Amino acid sequence: MSLPVKPMSDSKHYGLTSQSGGEASLFVHSTESFGSVDGPGVRFIIFLKGCHMRCRYCHNPDTWRMAGEADTAMSVTELLDQAERYRAYWGAEGGITVSGGEALLQIDGLIALFEEAHRRGINTCLDTAAQPFTRREPFYSKFLRLMKSTDTVLLDLKHIDSEAHRQLTGHGNENILDCARCLSELGVPVWIRHVLVPGLTDDEEQLRRLRAFIDTLTNVQRVEVLPYHTLGVFKWKELGLRYTLDDVPVPTAEQVARAEQILQAKA
Ligand code: SF4
Repeated sequence: MSLPVKPMSDSKHYGLTSQSGGEASLFVHSTESFGSVDGPGVRFIIFLKGCHMRCRYCHNPDTWRMAGEADTAMSVTELLDQAERYRAYWGAEGGITVSGGEALLQIDGLIALFEEAHRRGINTCLDTAAQPFTRREPFYSKFLRLMKSTDTVLLDLKHIDSEAHRQLTGHGNENILDCARCLSELGVPVWIRHVLVPGLTDDEEQLRRLRAFIDTLTNVQRVEVLPYHTLGVFKWKELGLRYTLDDVPVPTAEQVARAEQILQAKA
């Protein structure tokens, strides 16, 4: 989800799970102790396993796989105890961010984690591409409950055009845009993030359409342009996956500045 490339072998790898001794638990891919770009301040980042999207530029395809029977999970207590070792560095703004993969695929564990985090006075941030979002039950009630203990949402909007979104990720964007609307209705602070890929997500008209959509929302604190990079390509090769963007260059500083000019301009 987030742009940093997570190492495949150095980071801690945990499995999936459901309950650990009666306590809610989560299938964790890896953790990062000092995240500085995934939400306000310095944050402990928890990357969860599993994602249904297949973004062509994904820099962490090793997070895609859902947990299997051989995987084990980390309990909420284990995760928060580990995170709190770094609490002294968080300052007034920092806390924990849960990313992925797609964190909303483990919404039950996420609710337990964020509610306990709030009980401990820990600021919470959810980094999501919102692919699982739906206003259908039972997901919707769970999402509303999760948002009560979520301080910030980092929401990836990958393309404003649904067909182009499907070409890029394997999924349309209707429910993702609806998630953005829902967050606006709820008044949850949101940072919108857009990965800029030359030739795929940098068309000026589409960027203007995306900005026009953002202008319909009332809760957006920040819009970030994340330049496409190729640092995660080796993972595709190691996983035996075919990478289809070999000929796509990283954006120039001018292209990034132009996209920022469009996406960060208020109506
Ligand atoms: S949403 Fe896209 S970029 Fe994020 S983990 Fe899934 S496939 Fe990768």
